[in-house]
Amino acid sequence: MRKTTCSKCGGPMEESRVGKYGYCKKCHAKNMRDNRPKWTPVYFEEKQKMRARSRSRDYVNKGYIVKERCVLCGKKDTEVHHRDYADPLNVLWVCKDCHAAIHKAHELIKIVNSKPAAPIIKGIKRRKRKSDGMPSDIQR
Ligand SMILES: [Zn+2]
Ligand SMILES: [Zn+2]
Ligand SMILES: [Zn+2]
Repeated sequence: MRKTTCSKCGGPMEESRVGKYGYCKKCHAKNMRDNRPKWTPVYFEEKQKMRARSRSRDYVNKGYIVKERCVLCGKKDTEVHHRDYADPLNVLWVCKDCHAAIHKAHELIKIVNSKPAAPIIKGIKRRKRKSDGMPSDIQR
């Protein structure tokens, strides 16, 4: 005998779904809604992280952001920490050890995020150019 009731809500199944699906249209829609938010924000976040990393790497490579000592321990060998991935150039320099530590400890990340961000040299040049009309070869 063909199953004509939804296996989820027990309600009647649409004729077009009988024999093909186990649940009704409404439950199917609900299922889609429940599943979607589970991956979309994570996916978005990953994309945003990737974009932020490549943007800041680009700035470091061009010399717009100059490598500094670790804001926490002063070690020389540092890497970029993003305070906010939505703001890719809002970065701080931390060493590998401190970086690993701050992403594990809530208190540490608060301390790091309260420090001033690494300066962007490009921004300073651009502002200067506007006010005193320096040649345009400074900015690409
Ligand atoms: Zn149903
Ligand atoms: Zn450090
Ligand atoms: Zn970080």
